[in-house]
This record gives sequence, structure tokens and C-alpha cells, in this order.
Amino acid sequence: MPRVAVLLLALTTLASVAHGAPPQTEAAAGRARYDGHRVYRVQPASSRHVAILQEIQRRYPQLDFWTQTIAISRPVDVMVPPELQERITETFNGYAMPYSIFIDDVQRLIDNESSHRQRAAGFDWTDYYPLENVYSWLDSLVEQYPGVVSSVVIGSTFEGREQRGVKISFGDGKPVVFLESGAHAREWITVATATYIVNELLTSTNATFRALAESFDWYVVPSTNPDGYEYTHTSNRMWRKTRSQSDDRLCVGTDPNRNWDYYWLDEGASPISCSETYAGPSVFSEVETRTLSEFLQSISDDLLVYLSLHSYSQLLMIPYGLNYERPDNYDELMEIGGKAVDALKQRYGTQYQYGTIYDIIYPAAGGSIDWVKKALGTRFVFEWELRDEGQYGFLLPADQIVPTALETIDSMVAILQEAVARTASR
Ligand SMILES: [Zn+2]
Repeated sequence: MPRVAVLLLALTTLASVAHGAPPQTEAAAGRARYDGHRVYRVQPASSRHVAILQEIQRRYPQLDFWTQTIAISRPVDVMVPPELQERITETFNGYAMPYSIFIDDVQRLIDNESSHRQRAAGFDWTDYYPLENVYSWLDSLVEQYPGVVSSVVIGSTFEGREQRGVKISFGDGKPVVFLESGAHAREWITVATATYIVNELLTSTNATFRALAESFDWYVVPSTNPDGYEYTHTSNRMWRKTRSQSDDRLCVGTDPNRNWDYYWLDEGASPISCSETYAGPSVFSEVETRTLSEFLQSISDDLLVYLSLHSYSQLLMIPYGLNYERPDNYDELMEIGGKAVDALKQRYGTQYQYGTIYDIIYPAAGGSIDWVKKALGTRFVFEWELRDEGQYGFLLPADQIVPTALETIDSMVAILQEAVARTASR
């Protein structure tokens, strides 16, 4: 028997034992723990490596691929529980696949992250906060800035939470900027960054920024996936999807950024409910994406700029996630993207790549920015994958919140300045 077959057979045997069982990290009660879980960075160098990694991904539901798609010479980050580490690294070695240990103990990072998070109330950017604190803070802004900040309820979630944000307007009737974040529950830095942006919009005294802030009507929804976000704070830090469930599905949750009506389920999304990129049973099956899309439709006449925050990888992306078409203003968006990443780099030297989702990361059907571009025809559409490049991955230490937010704002300012200039000169 050729070596490939032997190794894959071994994988099959191991995987069949675990198939259908709940992930071992989902403790029956309390929080999921990740003691000794390692994140390996693998560098597939050939189509054979890609095939092996895809096979591993299919056969081991216990592995958490932090990088969603596998392609030649793109690094793949995968979290492996202790009991599988020997087997998996043997496989890497067996196929001469270069790899390194990027995170040695995921639980240790989680513990560090939450060591000082015992406050009942309050909100700031020295720490990551649960949904309740985010919402209380938004409420406090509505009180503090009457006539400027109003509460916006997009809808309610599968579990009945409000999906909401704020509208910030210094005089209605201006072009709209919509900022969404937190679609993927474990990407905490996006929620922190979005709220930081809200705070800057209200408090910054920088003249350039003030003028820009007041040239637009803003909608900011810091957590478009409140059920998932709450779950990452109470039960499982590494949760990504929504929390929807039904009797005919084995696993809980849908990937909300694969559920939008743009070539739904075509590529880079999964029909299997246990997958981290499960596209859902149908287009807009998730109440969170459906109501958000309806809301966007209702403001689409004024919607000039759509911004979406994800993490991690340090990328600034434009539509689309598939190679069937380019945005009508591809050249314009690429020019602006270049200026934005240059601006972002000025402050701390942080390097971003930019391009279409398809070109710089991977095929991914059903994402929000693709739908906004295609269905609403919004002119300026950008999506960030914020810090870092995998050293901490989703567990970015809280002391990086402010630097991340500041450099992100620098790139956002560059985008908005271009949007203003290009719409004025028409
Ligand atoms: Zn994401």
C-alpha cells in the first residue's frame, strides 16, 4: 500500500472514533478549555500538500482551522488538541510539509486575555468587554449626545438578543457610512475597534478628522452576531458562527459571512453544519444576516461607504470573493486601497496587503461586502482583516486594541477622504 493510503487510513480510523461526538473542548458545563492546544502554521508547498490538508480538515472535526482555505504557498493556521498533536505532526513530517508551532498553549493566551476582566460595569479600550457592557456604553452615548447619537435596532437574533448599533449624525441628510463588525464571534478586536471609532467620531478634536466625521451620517453596528459574541464570553472563546440550531442539523451555528445572497455556497463555503464555514440551510437563513440586509436595503439610496471589520491577517479587501467578476470600479477601489494601507503603515509600520478577497485570501462565497457591492451597488466597499499575522491570531492582547484602532482609523480616513474627493468632483 502506498504511504499516502496508509497514512490516510490511519486518519480515517482515528476520525471515525470521534465522528459525531461533540468537540472535546465543549465542556458539558462551564467554559470550553484549550489547555495544551497548539496552533501550527503549515506551509503547503504543492498541490499534494493542499490535498492532504483538505483531507485532514474533512476527517478531523476536532481540528480548528483558523485559516479557512487551503492553497499552495499560503500559510495555514490550525489549532490541534494535545491528543492529536503527535499524529498530525507525523503526517506533516511524512509529507515533508514545513510547519512551525505558532501558539504553544491557546489556554494560556485566553487566561492572559481575561486575567483582569472581572469588572461588572464600565467600558474602555484597555480590555475586551461582553455584549452587555458594549450595549450599556452605546446607551450612555445616546443620553450623552442627544440629537447626535440615536439607537438603531436592526433586529433580534436567533436567541432573542437585540442586534443593534448607533446612528451618529451631526445634521441629517448626508451620505452614509455603515460600519459592521463582530460577524465572526471570536474576532474580539473588531468589536473593540468599532467602538473606539464611535468614540473618536464623538470626541476627536483633530480638525481633519472632525470635518470628515461630520461630513457623513454614520451607522455603526459593533456586533452583528450578538449570540455568538456572548457565547465567546460565557462558554467558548473560540466560537465563530451564529448560534442557530434546528432538529435536522448535527451542529450549531452558521457562518454569517457565508450566508449572504452572492453566489451563496458556490465556493469557499460548506454545506456541512459542523463546518466553521457552514453557509446555512439557505440564503439568508440567519435572522442576523437577513435583517441586516433588509436594513441596508432601506438606507441604500444614501449608502456611500460600507466598511466591515474582521480579523486576523492584516489585509484590506475589496469585493469579490469569487473570480467571476470584478467590481465595476475595481481600479478606483484598488487605488484607494493602496492609499489606505500606506496611511495605515505610517503610524507603527504595520504592513497590510490589499486586493480583492479572491485575489489576496481565498474564494469565499456569501460574504456581506460582496452582497452590498452587487445588490446595492454601493460605491466604496472595504473589509479589513485586522491585526495580527497569527502570532496571537484571534487572541490579540488587549494592549493592542488602541494601536490597532488608531492605525485602522488612519486607513479609514484615507478611504473617506478619497470618497469625498471623488464624489465632489463628479
Ligand atoms: Zn471574520
